[in-house]
Amino acid sequence: MTASLAERLRAGTVLGAEGYVFELERRGYIKAGPFVPEVVLDFPGAVRELHREFLRAGAEVMVALTYYAHREKLRDVGREGELEEMNRQAVRIARSVAAESSADGGALVAGNVCNTWAYDPDDPATAQTVRAMYAEQLGWAVEEGVDFVISETNDYLGEALIALEVIGGLGLPAMVTLAPTQPHLTRDGYEYADACRILAAEGAAVVGLNCDRGPRTMVPLIARIRDAVDCAVAVQPVPYRTDAIAPTMETLTLPNGDRAFPIALDPFTCTRFDMAQFAVQARELGVDYIGICCGAGPHHVRAMAEALGREVPASKYSPSMELHPMFRADVSAKDAAFLQTWNA
Ligand SMILES: [Zn+2]
Repeated sequence: MTASLAERLRAGTVLGAEGYVFELERRGYIKAGPFVPEVVLDFPGAVRELHREFLRAGAEVMVALTYYAHREKLRDVGREGELEEMNRQAVRIARSVAAESSADGGALVAGNVCNTWAYDPDDPATAQTVRAMYAEQLGWAVEEGVDFVISETNDYLGEALIALEVIGGLGLPAMVTLAPTQPHLTRDGYEYADACRILAAEGAAVVGLNCDRGPRTMVPLIARIRDAVDCAVAVQPVPYRTDAIAPTMETLTLPNGDRAFPIALDPFTCTRFDMAQFAVQARELGVDYIGICCGAGPHHVRAMAEALGREVPASKYSPSMELHPMFRADVSAKDAAFLQTWNA
């Protein structure tokens, strides 16, 4: 019997993992630019494999890859007719991998909706468009079987509230997270902590932040949210070294002045140790759902799981540097000569 989201949150920290779109783009299965998850239909095995890698690394939630799998985006790539199949297939893949979990309580399956780029707070008609998009995506997800729904990368509180209403109408727990692209406010002008308080009051089971900011610039914002709400809090930063000068991954610049986002962020990537440290810091702050977003690799997730005191299937292959020819205590005379070169 799989432990529910509520049971897991009561028992301790839930570890999540996302970043499917960026990782599958790097692997050659998603086109940067539109970032539509066509891979779900074209190479389902690639999606299954990445789910499995995150699962082995300790992720407790398999998030169906329906990010941007909505009507507006599929129209952009001429695949609107495959919308339903893409959404259903994504949930089926996530479910099949979650069933492979050998962890206590197994793994959960989350449906997923995101910012639509169709919402305009000044145009009430767009609210109806967005509601219809979420309703059709999540209707299919519910039929295929999800345990809860993650509504994420929300720029507008207004759009997040529409998602929350649709999820609630389907009788599922909702985790709703905002994309903190601005210093303090959502695009419709709410302090992030206030927006989360409103989402909690409207019934969200989990509220918080995901994407855009790396750990260093996301943690101060999540601390304020933790203080503002009584419900569970989620944080899923990008594994990039954002700072006071470039607080989001979109503002990071390369030495030649070019924007690094979205496909030249590699030099800013956090190490697994950075992400391990972040996981501990987030738990100390009282964050309940700790995860990672765009840019994530399974090595980050495993390091986070282990920093939280867990042994996961991929721990079998965790580093043993004492067995490295150069780093072992009894390094041979020949290898010692090599090491001198490394240290020069
Ligand atoms: Zn992201």
